[in-house]
Amino acid sequence: MKSYQLQDYRQPLVPVETPTPEPKGSELLLKVVASGICHTDLHLIDGGYDLGQGRRLSFKDRGFQLPRTPGHEIVGRVVAAGPEAGAIAREKNYLVFPWIGCGTCVACAAGDEHLCPQPRYLGLQRDGGFSDHVMVPHPRYLLDIGNIDPKAAAPYACSGLTTYSALKKAGDAIKRSEILIIGAGGLGLMGVQLVRLMGGKGAVVVDIDAKKRQAAVEAGALAALDGSAADLRAQIQSAMTAGVHVVVDLVGSATTAQLAIDVLAKGGKYILVGLFGGSIDIPLPTIPLRVLTITGSFVGNLAELNELLDLARSRGLPSFPTTPCSLHDVNENLRRLHDGKVIGRAVMVAE
Ligand SMILES: [Zn+2]
Ligand SMILES: [Zn+2]
Repeated sequence: MKSYQLQDYRQPLVPVETPTPEPKGSELLLKVVASGICHTDLHLIDGGYDLGQGRRLSFKDRGFQLPRTPGHEIVGRVVAAGPEAGAIAREKNYLVFPWIGCGTCVACAAGDEHLCPQPRYLGLQRDGGFSDHVMVPHPRYLLDIGNIDPKAAAPYACSGLTTYSALKKAGDAIKRSEILIIGAGGLGLMGVQLVRLMGGKGAVVVDIDAKKRQAAVEAGALAALDGSAADLRAQIQSAMTAGVHVVVDLVGSATTAQLAIDVLAKGGKYILVGLFGGSIDIPLPTIPLRVLTITGSFVGNLAELNELLDLARSRGLPSFPTTPCSLHDVNENLRRLHDGKVIGRAVMVAE
């Protein structure tokens, strides 16, 4: 099989040919049909996250082993199955749940494999979808996408799930007031549509890029505000007359975090998703006096991915722009994503 591997941090991925593996036990070998390119891939290639004040969270220090094939937004077809995998239809397109845990700890037992302390995430700790084949450890991680276009479905495994799980953390507030979404990349555009599909009042979006604001309006945002405007806080307050009760921050920089804390109403919730990095100083009495909730959100669990697919089938598909590309252009597309030139999602499709 042909894969693009990360062999050294901060270097382009390297094409390699290796023998196609045979599935054992409950494993399934999938031929990759579509594979999305995500910011997390950039973080993996870069080797870590910026923690602010010169500190770094490094993949190497966390025990990551190279070489590794990135890619965690995968749709594929089963081409071989281990003896314990059971009967599984070969002609169907399956979305792969990549946030796989150890299967035995408290988090995994509760169905929250994405919170497992010993993760086996595809495309991070295990080889992923920047390849023509991928191995999946068990059929329960395969979700039948029916007639959904594989290119549109692939990003559900990460950007869709991340956005859905983050919005679920808003609880009933989503139905009572508009949501402020910071960042109109792939997640933001998905978020704008999901707020509606989940019965919410709608989303106001902030982004510094005019093209992305335009895309947010086309996706159904109530308003799209320029993140670099000098009077941004006043613009937010006038666009959200009932107050800002929930901020979903898909950027996660010091600037956006400060904005969220500044604009939130009493009792408001700051849901931090983006991993741009940095740090801010929050005066502690602010949190109890304004009854603020600050919560992190990272991808989501298998049940949530099933709910998202159900929502897509029953309430209509959140469609957002995807740019099809091919596996051999992966480095070029990673660069474009890094430079902020991708609208929606770049998804590699099998030739
Ligand atoms: Zn576990
Ligand atoms: Zn991702």
